[in-house]
Amino acid sequence: MSTMPDAARSDRIWNDPHTLLCEACGYVIEGLPSDGPCPECGRPIARSLPENRPGTPWQNLRGWRPMLTTWWLAMRHPLCTLDMLTANPPRYLLLRVLAGGPLGLLLATLLLLVFERESPTPGGGSQSWSPGSALGAIIMALVLGVVLTPVAAWLLGVLTWTEARGLVIISARRGTRVHSRLAHSIVRHGAVAWLFCGVGAAMAIPWLWGFESEWRIERGPMPAWTFALAIVGLGVAFIGFMTFEMYAWLGLRRCKFANIPNPNQTGLSVASPTAQGSARARTTLQKEV
Ligand SMILES: [Zn+2]
Repeated sequence: MSTMPDAARSDRIWNDPHTLLCEACGYVIEGLPSDGPCPECGRPIARSLPENRPGTPWQNLRGWRPMLTTWWLAMRHPLCTLDMLTANPPRYLLLRVLAGGPLGLLLATLLLLVFERESPTPGGGSQSWSPGSALGAIIMALVLGVVLTPVAAWLLGVLTWTEARGLVIISARRGTRVHSRLAHSIVRHGAVAWLFCGVGAAMAIPWLWGFESEWRIERGPMPAWTFALAIVGLGVAFIGFMTFEMYAWLGLRRCKFANIPNPNQTGLSVASPTAQGSARARTTLQKEV
């Protein structure tokens, strides 16, 4: 893939990452009257200004209600939320813990299965580790699950962060401009889809428990439907991952020339009809940095 023409093109179009661009076509609208249209594509300039991005409820308000509202919006109307996004990535630790909990329990169950595998001893015969009883196995899995949940949450964070870096790099290669902080906002909103991965993991756990020898001896085998549930869970987890990727891809396209408030700007931008909104957005940005 040749990146030279794109790089040359981006140098020609803007020098500063905060140069105001038409969000539709990338034309430099810096200094143009805000009540006019973009000379290149005709989109109203006011619609491209940073002030036009109000932020999602999750970005603006504390509490679980704005958060849940935004998660629902992001899945139902992804483009609508992408148009609202500011360069103010919301905290999403709770989201990662909610999605990571079932994943941690799934990993714990898998670990127990590995522990319980029969291994041959040098003198002949075999030995295997055992939690002692079904109750012991359940307690062991729960404790391991709690220990592994932060690991799963951390892994989801690494994946989400990597996706944001990817968006910035791909965007630069294409000659467009997705700001790093906006990229993090995009992927954290798309990270709602990790919840599907958590639900999918939870659906696979009952079937995996059927392999536990202690469980089987004391409680009998798991019913056949748990296998079907596990297969459906695998599908749900896959859909979750693809939804996350899809949201990031939509963000890459939708926010390719998105403007964010310039934290170094003390005066008003020429194309800026709402001074208060701009100042407020700048303050928020500076607080985050
Ligand atoms: Zn334009």
